[in-house]
Amino acid sequence: MQENISKLKNLLSAKKQIVITTHRGPDGDAMGSSLAMFHFLKELGHIVNVVIPNLHPEFLHWMPGNKHVLVFEEDEELANKITQNADLIFLLDFNHLSRISDFSETVSLTDVTKILIDHHQNPDTSIADIIFSDSKACSTAQMVYEIIDTLGFRNYINKEIAECLYVGIMTDTGSFKYASTSAKTHRVVADLIEMGIDNSRIHDLIYDNSSSNRINLLGYCLYKKLLLYPKNNSAILSLSSDELDRFQFKKGDTEGFVNFALGIKGIRFASFIVEKEGVVKLSLRSKGDIKVNEIASKYFNGGGHVNAAGGISSFSVNETIKILEEIINNYITNQ
Ligand code: 5GP
Ligand code: MN
Repeated sequence: MQENISKLKNLLSAKKQIVITTHRGPDGDAMGSSLAMFHFLKELGHIVNVVIPNLHPEFLHWMPGNKHVLVFEEDEELANKITQNADLIFLLDFNHLSRISDFSETVSLTDVTKILIDHHQNPDTSIADIIFSDSKACSTAQMVYEIIDTLGFRNYINKEIAECLYVGIMTDTGSFKYASTSAKTHRVVADLIEMGIDNSRIHDLIYDNSSSNRINLLGYCLYKKLLLYPKNNSAILSLSSDELDRFQFKKGDTEGFVNFALGIKGIRFASFIVEKEGVVKLSLRSKGDIKVNEIASKYFNGGGHVNAAGGISSFSVNETIKILEEIINNYITNQ
């Protein structure tokens, strides 16, 4: 860590053009850590751009710095030009270039120093020159806080940086409840609150900002689409694209649905399957030592954390349910 910190401090000692990128389907931690880093590097006097592979959900659009975010899918030419001219590239909250899909071509072809900051297991160390990897960290945002602090720049953390870090930590810990939430997490968050952020307002903006369509869709999904496998402590939720259409689905509307299935007494493995834009996507969640990242990478070309992972299926929603039922039968009982 110390050696990396010294290298980073050196790199940041002269004005640079910097690109920050994060994973496809950016979530609160992806946007929180990226925008916190954006504000921090600007404070240090650098020219900074955040490039995300595809658009993030609307409930994150209020975040400070959001209007400066460039979406690769919306303007590939500009995103490529800015990236080709960068002196430094930060890769945040992902462990493999496949996670930034088509933007990976430009990123991998640029021959500048790349810095990876990530909390997923087994990062592909060939993608960056300086690697900050901590799979025990609850979030990349917490790692960004620690890096800024260890650099000796804690006093540079302004309200905007603090708000972004809070979003990342809050969303990736499920509001400070997942097993990854440590005493350190609470200390970091306490520090951010003491810096003057309105934590209750941030919670409101993220979680209490649903459309009535989203709440109706959630109700429908939980009431009509819940499959329970009590003997295997498992549950599956699913939604087809027709069902999404019925509730005027907007990006981000199904965020968090899987957690309701995991909230049922006795459930230790929950999956949410959704068909969006012709792709069948899975969210997997577990409690304890059921390693859903292994299931995601073995069967669904995906990955993630031990208790929270995702992937895609090349089959229909119904066929994917059957595949998951087999996995549940073979894998979850054999734990
Ligand atoms: P979610 O279920 O919220 O989409 O994703 C949960 C976690 O699983 C993410 O934080 C990410 O680490 C991982 N994840 C989700 N989708 C994918 C995927 O397609 N590929 C990989 N490698 N990881 C994924
Ligand atoms: Mn994360």
